[in-house]
Amino acid sequence: MNLPLTGQAKPPLGSADLRSPYQLDPAELDRITGEHAPYRVDQLREWLYQHPVLTADQMTNLPADIRRSLADRVWPFGVEMEQTADYGRTRKWLFRSSDGASIETVLMGYPNRTTLCISSQAGCAMACTFCATGQFGFERHLDAGEIFAQVAFANATLRADPIEGSPARVTNVVFMGMGEPLANYGNVKEALARMIDLANMAARSITVSTVGHVPGMRRLAAEGRQVSLAVSLHATDDELRTSLVPLNDRYPIEAVLAAARYYFERTGRRISIEWTLMAGVNDDAEQARRLAEIAVGLRAHINVIALNPTPLTPYEAPTHGAISAFMDALATEGAHATFRETRGREIDAACGQLRVRSLGGKTTETGTEGKDQ
Ligand code: SAH
Repeated sequence: MNLPLTGQAKPPLGSADLRSPYQLDPAELDRITGEHAPYRVDQLREWLYQHPVLTADQMTNLPADIRRSLADRVWPFGVEMEQTADYGRTRKWLFRSSDGASIETVLMGYPNRTTLCISSQAGCAMACTFCATGQFGFERHLDAGEIFAQVAFANATLRADPIEGSPARVTNVVFMGMGEPLANYGNVKEALARMIDLANMAARSITVSTVGHVPGMRRLAAEGRQVSLAVSLHATDDELRTSLVPLNDRYPIEAVLAAARYYFERTGRRISIEWTLMAGVNDDAEQARRLAEIAVGLRAHINVIALNPTPLTPYEAPTHGAISAFMDALATEGAHATFRETRGREIDAACGQLRVRSLGGKTTETGTEGKDQ
């Protein structure tokens, strides 16, 4: 018999639907628990979202057949590479989905927080000229399950193998891995909902970082969530900014700042301004003065990070002297600014360094950052 599927029909599990449970709507987990009692759905949801474990056999209160049906597909990706740095306090994963997309995630342990830097896209279409991912181009959007599963996987790993001296769970998430999160709005919104509503994370401990995608910033402001927003500014005049961030042509500085102000007014959350400092490009006194003026006007906090040079781009890291002069200038103008130390440089987990991939025998560096927030 070959009955047509209706909108409500659910394919039998274990056969047709071999996606990870993270790629199912959390309200549809009965597709996995099947004929079992409804409370099995709640148990499974708890394993996936509240107390994630690395393998299905660790979901000890679930019947064996459910565990078996999940055996090879708990995660929507496989681990292709895992590396550690900074005396074990930084870990980087390169995940690979079944269609070959690479997903990179960096975990950073600090004394009172554990921050996870996640990717929202494989590759990126924004083409920022100093960013390795930008040089590599766009592969595809990650779905909500692939985005959330990076958090769950880190939590499952931390439970088995915590970072000494840091919380044994992800306390902060930053969307500063590969991709422009606001260009993948629907999936990012759904992943945020799962982090906040299902995994019980505090919205304010999650930072969406944007290149200045104005419509996305306005849309996110209107969601009524207390999510933190970081705006990657890097320049105070449109000519310079467009040369670094091509999207500035479409959404110039004034529009980005207006959207940032709207975000602050709607949510009450202070904006962070990200500033990647590049030698001889945006590290002069005039840029510092105008940046401070913008930040003070917006009541924003500035995060300065030194460029991590990537082989495909011409920019250079600032000198120590230039960094302190820039920070001093910001302080003199009354701005609140922090210089962020990079993590994971030696494992290519630092900003702009993720995803060293081997292409045709040549090693090409692509990817983004493991930034502290
Ligand atoms: N697309 C989003 C999020 C990913 S990039 C955004 O632009 O904000 C996250 C941060 O890393 C951004 O502030 C970006 O400017 C910065 N970044 C990218 N490449 C870098 C590099 N090579 N060195 C230092 N920071 C870099």
